[in-house]
Amino acid sequence: MPRLPVIIAALLLPSLAAASEAVDEARASAAGIHRISGKRLTLYSDVSGPEVDQLPEAFDQAFSQWCRYFSVKETKLPDWHAIGCLMKDRTRFAAAGLLPDDLPPFRHGYTSNYRFWLEEQPTDYYRRELLLHEGTHAFMFTVLGGAGDPWYKEGMAEYLGTHRWRNGRLTLGYTPRSREESLGWGRIPAIQAMVAQHRGLRWNQVMEFSDTAHRETEPYDWCWAACTLLDQHPRYQKRFRQAMRFVQRDDFNECFHRLFQKDWPNLCEEWQVMIAGMEYGYDVARAAIDFTPGGPLPAGPPPAASDGGPSDEGPYGPPPKGPKGPKGPKGPKGYGP
Ligand SMILES: [Zn+2]
Repeated sequence: MPRLPVIIAALLLPSLAAASEAVDEARASAAGIHRISGKRLTLYSDVSGPEVDQLPEAFDQAFSQWCRYFSVKETKLPDWHAIGCLMKDRTRFAAAGLLPDDLPPFRHGYTSNYRFWLEEQPTDYYRRELLLHEGTHAFMFTVLGGAGDPWYKEGMAEYLGTHRWRNGRLTLGYTPRSREESLGWGRIPAIQAMVAQHRGLRWNQVMEFSDTAHRETEPYDWCWAACTLLDQHPRYQKRFRQAMRFVQRDDFNECFHRLFQKDWPNLCEEWQVMIAGMEYGYDVARAAIDFTPGGPLPAGPPPAASDGGPSDEGPYGPPPKGPKGPKGPKGPKGYGP
């Protein structure tokens, strides 16, 4: 069922003013919580350090990239602003009135419209990834007015949370090239391990994750991979990006299925190829399969070569086109900066 248009939905949600009024700065400070501000984010944290101080800047860059990805003019959202809590000790935030006691239980992060809460993480990469994951949720909830079915909601947050942060520049939708580049994240080795244990999921199983599936970690691995495949594949990307139009609909998955109906079996096959070959720096475009059917061999005896012997190309002419060969080296893929 169609719901509110995107921008109207955003306007109806609680404003920044309403959200920030709820923060008692003196109480937060007395509880050992400090504030770090950016254009699009105010972050309250009981963790400090240079990497934490850079989080609002990363978030601001992400906001511009979310706008471009979801085809929203950033100038139409001049007042969009989120409030986040990065928490090492939850009791401090509860004492400061920053952690409402009616939030559902969560392990690493939770978002409610313009506000989100993160558990402190052992690595700089994963702390930032989690911030961008929850930020993606905040953007989709408040600007798109919804986030689709569970695989898309969590897959997009994970896809646009997975990033490269180098020399102060952020790239979203970036597949890490190594473990060192993404310490603490671990989705690629997790998929490798599950496939090795014959626990790989079929495409349809990923699409059917329930609302509660993401209480476990593994569904995040699969949903990240699904959105990575769809968004980086030369034949699927354009159609996949149409799915963002359906995020407010109850029949999101049906709409999505219609977009891919004609080559659903191919998609299922490419999924199997992807998860079987998952590795750091996995290049979806290079692994794309050419499903063009081959032509029949010519009838009759093989044509004689002009000199009476077999030609260099073999008895039936040039070999049929095989799968696309490797392409030259490319720069890092991803969305933005
Ligand atoms: Zn999430």
